[in-house]
Amino acid sequence: MKSKYNADEQGMYGRFGGAWIPEMLQPNIDNLRKVYLDIINTAEFQKEYVALLKDYVGRPTPLYYAKRLSQKYNTHVYLKREDLNHTGAHKINNTIGQILVARKMGKKRIIAETGAGQHGVATATACALMGLQCVVYMGALDIERQAPNVARMKMLGAQVIAATSGNQTLKDATNEALRDWICHPEDTFYIIGSVVGPHPYPDMVTRFQSIISQELKAQFKEKTGSEYPDYVVACVGGGSNASGSFYHFLDDEQVKLVAVEASGLGIHSGETAATIALGEVGIIHGSKTFLMQDEDGQIVEPYSISAGLDYPGIGPQHAHLKDTDRAIFLDATDQEALDFALEVTRLEGIIPAMESAHAFVALTKLNIAPEQSVVITMSGRGDKDMSTYMERFKL
Ligand SMILES: *Cc1c(COP(=O)(O)O)cnc(C)c1O
Repeated sequence: MKSKYNADEQGMYGRFGGAWIPEMLQPNIDNLRKVYLDIINTAEFQKEYVALLKDYVGRPTPLYYAKRLSQKYNTHVYLKREDLNHTGAHKINNTIGQILVARKMGKKRIIAETGAGQHGVATATACALMGLQCVVYMGALDIERQAPNVARMKMLGAQVIAATSGNQTLKDATNEALRDWICHPEDTFYIIGSVVGPHPYPDMVTRFQSIISQELKAQFKEKTGSEYPDYVVACVGGGSNASGSFYHFLDDEQVKLVAVEASGLGIHSGETAATIALGEVGIIHGSKTFLMQDEDGQIVEPYSISAGLDYPGIGPQHAHLKDTDRAIFLDATDQEALDFALEVTRLEGIIPAMESAHAFVALTKLNIAPEQSVVITMSGRGDKDMSTYMERFKL
């Protein structure tokens, strides 16, 4: 889809994006950039991708009218149920797409980075499905904090390697994965888990996640007679579930796009992941975007209660949506997200992922009229967060 909000041929979104990478990575990136669109656009690829999304992932995911939430906030609230995907989040839409690209390119070995382990699990799942070797880099601290997901990856046959640099979380795992890719350019494909990294990754991942808004637009029309909800809301870590939720509405300017980032203990607490609110332009993992950095240009370690939103940068498309005022950016603290996690559970019988719970602050921070409609993307389910919920809610 051509739109002034999508990447141009160089992978630029306005003044953001591109591929700012070490020379040793250039051949890998050039290779991928040359072939990804040709591969994705073949009828053969589309047929297999769509069939797997349907029969393996369980798509289309429902668009659910949340009646009790709607009553409480005196408006019309719909939930796009990405939590009902196989493996419990939207991540698998992307890993299935990328592994088909990898197979077409003749790659035998897959590497990935992961924070909470959701992308690692989705990648290990796709590798088991295709019979490909899988190596997942994960910060040593995250390995400790996310034991159930580490066990899932191992059961699926993946090798999990601890990243021991920095504060031993997602950023450090990404650095290790990039290093691995430089050392294994021939046989290895790097599956990045969000709309971040050098071009063509942000564009490729957005295309795979755009199935969310493709379905959503048709489902909303079927339910209401209109193709255009007033608001589409999603949480942003790197920004892939948001990019996918926005994609088919980018040029429908009457639809307000809303991204919610995690402000942790508060925007000015020093313990936050509110990149858009605090970030300045810089380069992280091969992409020019907003990121949290100190006066010396050193990346500031991010913090959020949700490991999936705990990233010091943001996808370049979101930086551009901020620049152009096409999207509204809000933030939610740990406490606000926790309050919504419990409220959504009690009103609708749906336990959201800690990340997804952040998106619901839109219901209190926007002035939504009673006759208007808001679609909130439920990016994942809360099973992985039960230990946090048990502790915070004294269950
Ligand atoms: C990984 C994850 C996120 C954050 O990633 P985005 O690329 O910003 O979508 C959000 N929600 C869930 C459930 C996740 O697993």
